[in-house]
Amino acid sequence: MSETESCLFCRIVAGQIPATVVAESVNSLAFRDIDPGAPTHVLVVPRRHVPDLAGLAAASAAELADAVALAAQVADDEGLPGYRVVANTGEAAGQSVFHAHLHVLGGRSLTWPPG
Ligand code: 5GP
Ligand code: ZN
Repeated sequence: MSETESCLFCRIVAGQIPATVVAESVNSLAFRDIDPGAPTHVLVVPRRHVPDLAGLAAASAAELADAVALAAQVADDEGLPGYRVVANTGEAAGQSVFHAHLHVLGGRSLTWPPG
């Protein structure tokens, strides 16, 4: 099975699994998390399959910058006064989908440090 066939976020990027898309760019797609942890909880994923954020940085600095810019656009579109960008990396940090993604969280007060 190819990566695109087996990877959940590749399948969302390909339109094979439905998602609530809120923004997109040439290199990235932004859609709502299915199990939101905040009033705004959007995932920004590169269209390219890489397993995590460091993998994206290594593959393409431009595509990493594109994902960060799309996260900022989502926060602006949602009218957030502030927001948090999280990239869980590795199972020990809570990563469950091994296609790089940024969580964009906002719309409530956010505590620090995160749990
Ligand atoms: P991670 O745990 O890897 O940091 O984040 C993966 C995120 O993907 C989780 O917050 C989870 O709720 C979300 N997620 C898992 N399956 C789906 C899905 O089928 N659709 C959407 N929109 N989000 C999903
Ligand atoms: Zn993928």
